[in-house]
Parts: sequence; C-alpha cells; structure tokens
Amino acid sequence: MQGGSKGAGGKRFWVNGRFVSESRATLPVLDRGLLFGDALYEVVRFYRKRVFLLDRHMDRLFREAEIIGLPVRFTAAEVARAVEGLAARSAEPGGLVLVEWTRGDGERRLAPSPGFRGNLFAVRLPLPRLPRRYRNEGAPVLTLPDERWQGTDLKSTNLLAAVLARSRAEREGCHEAILHRGRGPGARITEGTSSTVFLVRKGVVITPAVRGLLPGITREVVVGVVREEGLPLEERTVRLAELFEADEAFLTATSAEILPIGAVNGRPPARSAPGPVTRLLIPAFRRVRDRILRKTPPARK
Ligand code: PMP
Repeated sequence: MQGGSKGAGGKRFWVNGRFVSESRATLPVLDRGLLFGDALYEVVRFYRKRVFLLDRHMDRLFREAEIIGLPVRFTAAEVARAVEGLAARSAEPGGLVLVEWTRGDGERRLAPSPGFRGNLFAVRLPLPRLPRRYRNEGAPVLTLPDERWQGTDLKSTNLLAAVLARSRAEREGCHEAILHRGRGPGARITEGTSSTVFLVRKGVVITPAVRGLLPGITREVVVGVVREEGLPLEERTVRLAELFEADEAFLTATSAEILPIGAVNGRPPARSAPGPVTRLLIPAFRRVRDRILRKTPPARK
C-alpha cells in the first residue's frame, strides 16, 4: 500500500474531521452510502505535493451536494484542508485523494428522516499504473450500452452499472468501456466508466456536450488547451458510429490526464495511435497543468 498508515507515509485517512490510521478509519454499518449509494465522491490528484485544481473539485462536490440536499457537516474549506493534509502527509510526491460524502447513518428508510448529519471521509490512493503501451500505442476500449441511471451528471457512489461495464471491458482485455445510449444508428456516446471521450476527425476535436454527463475537470482543461492551440472544437451529440470513423480518439480523467485510444472492440485503429492532434495535446496539457501547479502553493498538513 502506498504511504501506509504508519511510518514515513503518515496517516492515509481523514474521517469526519480527524486524520486517522486505517484501523481507525471506520463508518457505521448503517451508513446510507453503504445501504443505498446515497453519497457523492471526488477524486483529486496531487503533483509534487500540490493539489491540482482543488477548488474546482470542491465546487463540483458542493454544487452536487446542494442538488441532492446532502447535510453540510463540513465546509468546502474544511474538506479542502483534509485533502491537502493527506497530500502533505504522503511519502510520494504525487497521488490521488478520494473524498466521499454520504448522507449519514441512522434508521434504514429510503426517504431520510430529518437529522441525518452526513459522514465524510477521504483517503490517499496510489495512482493506478497503466501499461506503458497504452500511452505509446493507445489503450484498447470496448463499446457497451450505458446502463447507468439518468443522473450521471452527479458523481454518485451508485456505480454498479459502471462496475459491471468496466469489469466486462477488462475481461475482454480492454482498459475502458465507452458507453452509449440508444442502439443502431441513433446510438450516442456518453462517456467512459471513469473518463470523458474525445474524438478527432479532419482536424476537428469533438466531445459530447456535458448536459446529463459529469462535467469532467480534465475535460475542462483540455477544452481550454484545444482553444489555446487554435484547433476547432465541437461540443455536441456524438454518434457511436463516429468513434469508428475517427482519425484519433482519446480519454481524459484526473488520474490518466490524456490517454490515447487504440483498438476499439478489438479492431486496431485505422491510423497508428496516438495521432498527431493527440500528440500535440498531451504536452500542451502538461504545460498548462504545470503553469497551474506553479501558482498552487504546496499542500499544508
Ligand atoms: N466521467 C466519469 C463517469 C468519471 O467517473 C470521471 C472520473 N472522475 C470522468 C468522466 C472524468 O472526470 P475528471 O476529469 O473530473 O476526473
């Protein structure tokens, strides 16, 4: 385990206001996150002990919490300090912090009775290791029907459909499942199980409009980078068929940044991946990221 609960790595968990070791990181069994998936989460990345776009992640979390009426047990500044505290205590200069915010624990009823206080925890996680060939040659993906609920603009812990889709993709030797709603020629791409999808066709960068989908923070940075580079950009409905006709495709996410897509459903890409636009965007993204990180103070304990 990265930066375990003892030793140089320091405490890896924060639970309801306290930094604790793993053995003390517990929540009641009747927590509504566990019972119903009545909870939200965020995954934040830190580089060189600086937390990347922490305010944006907090804004997204608190905006969603307001929509579903989660009880505000801690302020955004307090949760942000928890994330910073975990980053500052890390033995590794870089990594992820997962934040989960549940409606709390108590009587098991679907409609919560008043008085739920909310439970919040955060845990430092290592960056997932990706095979180098995914970056060099593109990651293989599998297209699957999007069987998630309609509320996919919320980062809720209700992830069963994503768990099953991602497991199926991995069983078939793929890195990610690209989800679509509708079938036949009307099928449109929504997103990956934990990533945003971008295509490139004839020099135009195309990504699904965010309505009804998670407004990815990496997506937002990449859209800015695309504009800065003066490339044409379309945010709109994207047909599944366009994935098969694309010159290039890539995924974006906090943990993976920009990851080129290689084979789709076992079919190698028409042109070798990563394509020229993806190869331009990867270092351009890193430059913007580093510019932002230079202005971000190091995380404090
Ligand atoms: N879509 C979904 C469903 C996700 O889970 C994620 C990962 N958080 C993303 C998109 C990418 O979002 P971000 O760039 O904010 O990590």
